[in-house]
Amino acid sequence: MRTPRPNRYRDRWAGELRKDDVGSTPRVAGWVHRRRDHGGLIFIDLRDRTGLLQLVFRPEEAPEAHKAAGRLRAEDVVSASGKIVEREEGTVNPALPTGEVELAVDSFELLADAETPPFQIDEDEPVGEELRLRYRYLDLRKEGMRDTLILRHDVVRTIREHLSDEGFLEVETPILTRSTPEGARDYLVPSRLQRGSWYALPQSPQLFKQLLMMAGAERYFQIARCFRDEDFRADRQPEFTQLDMELAFVEEDDVIDTVDRLLQRVLALRGIELRLPLERVAYDELMLRYGSDRPDRRLGVEIEDLTDVFRGSDFKVFAGAIESGGVVRGLRAPGELPRSRFDQLTEHARSLGAKGLVWAVAESGSSWRSPVAKFLSDEEMAGAAETLGASTGDALLIVADQPGVAAKVLGDLRLAVADGKPEGDDVFWVTDFPMFEWDEEEGRWDPLHHPFTSPTGDLDGDPGAWRSRAYDVVWNGWELGGGSIRINRPEVQEKVFQALGIGEEEARERFGFLLEALRYGAPPHGGIAFGIDRWVALMAGRSSIRDAIAFPKTASGVDPLTGAPAPANERQLRELGVKVEPGGTSGPGG
Ligand code: ASP
Repeated sequence: MRTPRPNRYRDRWAGELRKDDVGSTPRVAGWVHRRRDHGGLIFIDLRDRTGLLQLVFRPEEAPEAHKAAGRLRAEDVVSASGKIVEREEGTVNPALPTGEVELAVDSFELLADAETPPFQIDEDEPVGEELRLRYRYLDLRKEGMRDTLILRHDVVRTIREHLSDEGFLEVETPILTRSTPEGARDYLVPSRLQRGSWYALPQSPQLFKQLLMMAGAERYFQIARCFRDEDFRADRQPEFTQLDMELAFVEEDDVIDTVDRLLQRVLALRGIELRLPLERVAYDELMLRYGSDRPDRRLGVEIEDLTDVFRGSDFKVFAGAIESGGVVRGLRAPGELPRSRFDQLTEHARSLGAKGLVWAVAESGSSWRSPVAKFLSDEEMAGAAETLGASTGDALLIVADQPGVAAKVLGDLRLAVADGKPEGDDVFWVTDFPMFEWDEEEGRWDPLHHPFTSPTGDLDGDPGAWRSRAYDVVWNGWELGGGSIRINRPEVQEKVFQALGIGEEEARERFGFLLEALRYGAPPHGGIAFGIDRWVALMAGRSSIRDAIAFPKTASGVDPLTGAPAPANERQLRELGVKVEPGGTSGPGG
């Protein structure tokens, strides 16, 4: 960091003083991190953003400063000057970058005093989330939080530098806008000047970035705030930040290559070396092997298809499932599991929609210990054990069901039985997505990405068979980002709207501006967006995205620091023409 301009508070950063500075007489400023009194000497660890520096107050050399230092309390704000001296042998602290020196204080000033903080800043005791967020400015004083903020800055700065070098323009798009469907509810803002009309906060800049391609921007990016009003799921935030990108005249390979190099550069900030090109895996293959389109492949355990092994089996559960278009799939859980664990896993499988779970323990040769062993032939048991790679003592879990159910259930069981902490990093692309999935409840097709994704396949045929030109990036089991090549022809866009049950009139009403823009010469284009909060949290080794956001909200969407959301006053509501129905808050599901 550039040395601060000397003023009455400081002329050096506390955390940057080293052995080379011995003999110099700096002035430093910051917070009292910790105070220790030792046989007449007083030691203070002074903290600024750059780190800690030990100040020492000697009664005989600076009696006044020593006396005043005796009254200092944690988190008081002080400025101190004196001489940098080498620490005595045996008192060097190798854990601290400034640990070889200390500042022998001759004068200091108390700039502001601090009440006793509700939790200690100098310790990593677990503190409740509510309290941390209520006093976020204190929480952010902690070393780990400070480091995460700095990392976030470095990530964003590297992104900006890299993309600028590659010719991308950073363009801001509106926050007060119209709905962009990304599958969540909109946050609405009433318009005072157009009574009865509402702005929506963007769920993403999707439509604007596409319009920018039609405007000739060629390469766009934005560190964009997005808003999605979802029922609060663990570790979701109502507002979050995306790295949003779009490129014109591109195909999948162009976007993927651009992103590969960007990821390589950003992850290198944490010493993570990516070998390019990143692997690409088809959606169907992931669903088959991991039961998820964003698996943590480092867990090892994989799902295998056993349909061919059990086709025509005497065991009716397997044969029946296969006859009715289903599959038999299973996985090998390493090591022995007690009987009670199998019962738990069976319960778990049922709760996920499976009709049941077949479990077995592989014994030597081709035999299994299992409630269903008596229905299975030796060849079947040997064949399945071989496909699953089972050794004696291994537990086998098998599901016979429709492919979707089998994938979901085994995907979950896979996580439940995997043991050990995965190591290293696994970053890869998922490609070849289906365009839609069927929403049972609503009785309609839902896009796996969004309705502006370019479909492939027979667009006059069954939408269930359409594929899309979408791609996601997965990192250690998290979806880091996703995007697609877009539709650039109005007639294709209309077909997708039709498949989604969006009628002509509704399409014109909601997306008329896009359909119109598509008629004025829209280049082929595509892009992607990444969740920056998650990205930084992963790089920082933090388990919650809240740790990567300076001022996040709780799981119920509340900011305990400012008290947002809060009721509006009568006058504001009157001006907006908005009436509030009494009835309190609406719970999950609205
Ligand atoms: N707008 C999409 C999203 O927010 C990303 C994209 O397709 O570029 O998920």
